[in-house]
Amino acid sequence: MAATVLLVEDDPSIQKGLEMNLKIDGLRVLCASDGIAAVRAVRAAMPDLIILDLGLPGMDGFDVLREVRKDDSDVPILVLSARASEAEKVLGLSLGADDYVTKPFGLAELLARVRALLRRSRRRTSASVVKFGPVELDAEARVMKVNGAEIEVTALEFDLLKYLTDQPMRAVTREQIMQAVWGAGHAGTPRTVDNFIARLRSKIGDDPADPKFIETVRGVGYRFNPSG
Ligand code: CA
Repeated sequence: MAATVLLVEDDPSIQKGLEMNLKIDGLRVLCASDGIAAVRAVRAAMPDLIILDLGLPGMDGFDVLREVRKDDSDVPILVLSARASEAEKVLGLSLGADDYVTKPFGLAELLARVRALLRRSRRRTSASVVKFGPVELDAEARVMKVNGAEIEVTALEFDLLKYLTDQPMRAVTREQIMQAVWGAGHAGTPRTVDNFIARLRSKIGDDPADPKFIETVRGVGYRFNPSG
């Protein structure tokens, strides 16, 4: 899926040129020409990256940075500015900017920095390791550890556990599990899910008579309880 970049720039010629080149680079581009529109767009569209001009009408780029970080968003922000002083760079970075490019800038360099930021943040999100009780689930490496020791799991077992841990405390039906993990056109039955759950419980050391993490929800299916 194409990453979405929010381009915040009030100079129409820079905005047009950058928008075109980011699109050529395969990115989805949203544009905002002032700070208030920028903050609104961040909240509504949750972009994967923001390119932020500092000198904006109304609310300037520093205020946009403050607002976005106040929302606890960790979206990567690349500040683009004619203000080249060291003090301003430091202020921008201390407010939570991830990178800083001064105008006039080289297009190739800017695009390279955009790609680098997107790569870094993608790695950070997908490397997210889920931990509960003695279990550590690394989605990137597709490795499961129990008490620090790697435990062998099949691809389907891993996908099933990941599906459950992605939605803590939510009861899911066997049918939902089959759809999500086995996919449409699967040949399994609800009993297949039960067999997989039984194997997972034994691998993570969950007592089948009194499971703590993968709970049975009577008449429904299963629920993941991260606090056990
Ligand atoms: Ca400007």
